Amino acid sequence: MADHYETLGVDRNATDEEIKRAYKKLARQFHPDLNPGDTAAEARFKEVGAAYEVLSDRERRARYDRFGTDAPGMADPFAGGLGDIFEAFFGGGMGFGGGGPSGPPRGEDLETSVDLDLEDVVFGGEREVTVRTAVRCEPCDGSGAAPGTSPVACHECGGSGQVRRVRQSVLGQMVTASACGSCGGLGEVIETPCPTCDGHGRTIEQRTYSVEVPPGVDDGSTLRLSGRGAAGPRGGGHGDLYVHVRVRPHPVFRRDGDDLVHALHIPFTQATLGTHRTYETLDGTEDLVVPRGTETGTVFVLRGRGVPHVRGRGRGDLRVEVVVEVPDDLDDEQEELLRRLAELRGEEVAEPGTGIFSRIKSAFS
Ligand code: ZN
Repeated sequence: MADHYETLGVDRNATDEEIKRAYKKLARQFHPDLNPGDTAAEARFKEVGAAYEVLSDRERRARYDRFGTDAPGMADPFAGGLGDIFEAFFGGGMGFGGGGPSGPPRGEDLETSVDLDLEDVVFGGEREVTVRTAVRCEPCDGSGAAPGTSPVACHECGGSGQVRRVRQSVLGQMVTASACGSCGGLGEVIETPCPTCDGHGRTIEQRTYSVEVPPGVDDGSTLRLSGRGAAGPRGGGHGDLYVHVRVRPHPVFRRDGDDLVHALHIPFTQATLGTHRTYETLDGTEDLVVPRGTETGTVFVLRGRGVPHVRGRGRGDLRVEVVVEVPDDLDDEQEELLRRLAELRGEEVAEPGTGIFSRIKSAFS
């Protein structure tokens, strides 16, 4: 869509009165009743009306001056969430630069997210994402013109996509070129719109794409799928698809950089006497040797059993951090054995049935 000020042929600092006067003159000039059957005039008439609607409203004019559009949120088409995608596609104006037919604009970038398990992160693989997107209209192959017809050169600009206006200024004659308002700078117009896409050249559909998960990808990172965004209007190129990665917490392992960490709880008997355990890594089982006298905080490092380095080769380590478990559910026989052990080792322990609390109490009585 052309600049509203240029549409009305007024300066950016025109007064309300000047804008009103310009609108009235142009609206009369292009009124459909006075130009029967002239689609270019009709388009101009609509455009003049749209320009006046914005520029005659103080608030909308201010917003237009600032953002180049008066549609709230057009600077970020997805500010309102993906639900507004339809409006974002077909609702607002597009910016066109000067310099000949600009060609149809590229489609919007889209975003979505994918939930991964730690296994996906470690081993990579493919996942599918489904997005609501714009695809090239098939019946018209994106042209927007009804099948069997073609877009024709714009009557207003003769196909150049630009209109030139000559203006007198204090410096002399000035020629300004701007995107043609009638064809939006494309240089061509559609006389019979494709009924499937209403002349937009694209339709809204669900599409499923497969995402290659790079091994080692981290929670919160974003993958870019080039050309998997929305198709542009009137056969324009595709935007990109951004996929935000979320990694579900793993029930056993925690990620620390490219290492995995596991707090392994082992009973105090095993920690004291040592043991062999079958240990489940993401790659399969390993034999884990717990030596005699292993303390809480001891770390066993399984090299290369962590997360792949995203850049470069190899993988981080799996760090198994020992937590020695002390039982609080001894039966009579076990308690007797443990007391005997304490006695043999000359270690003083509380009497049966007396907790720390009762001993403190007795000290004060
Ligand atoms: Zn179509």
